[in-house]
Amino acid sequence: MTLLQVTDLRVSFDTPDGVVRAVRGMSFALDRGRTLGIVGESGSGKSVATQTLMRLTPGARVTGRALFEGQDLLTVSDRRMRELRGAEIGMIFQDPLSSLHPLYRVGRQIEEMIRAHDGKATREQARKRAVEMLGLVGIPRPDRRADDYPHQFSGGMRQRAMIAMALALNPKLIIADEPTTALDATVQAQILDLMRRLQREFDTALIMITHDLGVIADMADEVLVMYGGRPAEVAGRRDLYYRPHHPYTKGLLESVPSATGGDRLRTISGQPPSLINLPSGCVFHPRCPYVMDRCPVDEPPLDPAGEPRLDPGTEHVSACWLPHDIAGLDERAETARA
Ligand code: SF4
Ligand code: MG
Repeated sequence: MTLLQVTDLRVSFDTPDGVVRAVRGMSFALDRGRTLGIVGESGSGKSVATQTLMRLTPGARVTGRALFEGQDLLTVSDRRMRELRGAEIGMIFQDPLSSLHPLYRVGRQIEEMIRAHDGKATREQARKRAVEMLGLVGIPRPDRRADDYPHQFSGGMRQRAMIAMALALNPKLIIADEPTTALDATVQAQILDLMRRLQREFDTALIMITHDLGVIADMADEVLVMYGGRPAEVAGRRDLYYRPHHPYTKGLLESVPSATGGDRLRTISGQPPSLINLPSGCVFHPRCPYVMDRCPVDEPPLDPAGEPRLDPGTEHVSACWLPHDIAGLDERAETARA
């Protein structure tokens, strides 16, 4: 069953330097219990898009629809939105210190959140639930550590506390924006593991935003690759990893260490586009090793990216003029890079 259906989301901001076109037409559907990975470099529109869904982009011009169980998140009242945030939709950010209040004990903050949404919960019940959640996310001695302040927690523990807070009200959807980026590799792996386990246990849908395709390699059912404010490619995880179509997706995959065996790590040359001054035609053309004559002229639509598919239940679309089968073009790309 579809939990969240986003249709043609567009977000722009007026600034003294011009109009920033942060999101230019993003659509996806997410079912209960499933994971959508949204991948892109900074400035690709991935955070702005999800923040807009949560109504955290004041001053933005927004069009499109975002139906969450039939209610449009873009137009529900502020009051309804406050109810939804936390209780139905939980959020986890990169920097827990920006979400945890530094002057309140960690357990207390989770209690307050529970009581703000559940008027019937007594102090004791909320406390019990907070300690239970801290234990569930792997905080040792949760009954004691609940009385610590955020600065007494390590970075990994703070992120665990954030996850506990996000899950405390058993939301149907969690949006996690770069939740492990600030952590070292070992802690990152532990946190991702924890999120996977809890997601299964709670049957929560998850939107995982990251700049690193490696992070969602084991996790996402479907992946949306953002570039210059719009999806470059959308596919089931296996199609995306084994049969990527868009040259930008291929570039991202080549910059994942595990996918290349370590030392052949490559990064995509050039800079992400300015969202005020987008390149003409295909926004990726200034960086694309496969660029053709028509690319700077016509913007390619999101079209089916070819068969057969490895994830038959999910669509595979790509916004690129290349023919569906791009095997054999790799050599040309190598030459272009050299
Ligand atoms: Fe590259 Fe052209 Fe495809 Fe854009 S449309 S990604 S420039 S080949
Ligand atoms: Mg971001």
